Amino acid sequence: MIKLYNATTIDQAGNCLSHRDIYIDGGRIAKICDAGAPRPELKPTDAIDCSSYFVSPGLVNLHAHTAMNIFKGIAEDVPPEVWFNEMIWPYESRMTPDDIYTGTLLGIAEMLNNGVTAVADHYFGEEQVLQAAKDAGIRMDIAPTVFGMTPDWRDRLSQVCEFIRDHQGDSPRIKLRFGPHSDYTCPGDSLAQIVAEARRMRLPIHLHLAETRLQVEQSIERTGRTPFQRLQDAGGFDVPALIAHGLWLTDADLACLGDDTWFAFCPKTYMRLASGRGGFFDFSDRLRYSFGTDGAASSGSVNVLEQARLFAMLEKFERGDATIQPVLEVWQKLMAGHAVFGADTGRMEEGAVADLVVWDLNTPDTMAYYHPVAAILYAATSANVRYTMVEGEFLKYDGALKMDFAEVARETLRLQRDLLARGKGAAKVYY
Ligand SMILES: [Zn+2]
Repeated sequence: MIKLYNATTIDQAGNCLSHRDIYIDGGRIAKICDAGAPRPELKPTDAIDCSSYFVSPGLVNLHAHTAMNIFKGIAEDVPPEVWFNEMIWPYESRMTPDDIYTGTLLGIAEMLNNGVTAVADHYFGEEQVLQAAKDAGIRMDIAPTVFGMTPDWRDRLSQVCEFIRDHQGDSPRIKLRFGPHSDYTCPGDSLAQIVAEARRMRLPIHLHLAETRLQVEQSIERTGRTPFQRLQDAGGFDVPALIAHGLWLTDADLACLGDDTWFAFCPKTYMRLASGRGGFFDFSDRLRYSFGTDGAASSGSVNVLEQARLFAMLEKFERGDATIQPVLEVWQKLMAGHAVFGADTGRMEEGAVADLVVWDLNTPDTMAYYHPVAAILYAATSANVRYTMVEGEFLKYDGALKMDFAEVARETLRLQRDLLARGKGAAKVYY
């Protein structure tokens, strides 16, 4: 049992309560009570003085290609088609299992360091992704990607089904789902076939949709349907669906969405790849969404807090209205993403699963502060994250990651050298 004593709690709505003792046992919040109240029946083995700290639910990243941290900075200042066709896909074609494993650990390290307790991952090399998630202890929703435009996509889909059958239920921190890469990389009936497997296994899907204007225009030109309409035709909104982006969502697309459709909005990637304003903002009040980071090769980081920060600022700037996207609403959107993981996290309440962050705001980054949530949203860095806890287990403790990051860094440097020496291969798919 762990006791965080005399803390100020910040709940999922952004409400703060000071002088709280929090007891964590069996992976859950066992008790929250007035600080100092005697609880002889509770016998903590680790007690942490949180008198000057804030405790909140963890941050969640709804869309990442975590392994791509190995490519962070490899393709700067290029348009999306060059980014995909001439840089990322050619390098990815020669990725090794070690690259994927270490890249994923590297991304997880960045996330845990920044208070991210759960991530929805979307990548290939799922055996290595799963192993890295288990080794690091983060909560991960894994969607092994399938590209329907490759000749062997049916074999790949069978392989993914087998992986899911083999590993579903491995750990309460791991969830698996289907990951068609996107509508435009799953032509013909491949999209519907992947969705059919998801429905058969009663699992959700996670895919890219309408990220750029060009994707929407090409979809209409080739199929007469928008990306959202194609997914609807494929039955993709009859299952729980996590949509990465949807930046170029149109009015007509709103009718396609299902009861359990979530969006992962990743503004830093859109800004860096100059993806345009799109339609998302115009309809956002009618959508269920939270934030994702996309891969570090496009966004430069996998710290989801930065995405929420940019989202709020972009809206204020674009609309010329500083009163919109107020701090607490943005915090609530960030917290809303917990629902996607279905793991009973994201509540600062007794009984909730203890995926928590302990914030130290008495640092040069955040002092002076008058509202802790504003300080977190607009100023916090990883230096403010004192502890990160997943299911009652500390993965960052007193400012230091539990994993051996020095070893991860050494291995990263070695793999980076190999990766550049191997160079680019032929991309299997084209953007
Ligand atoms: Zn993505």
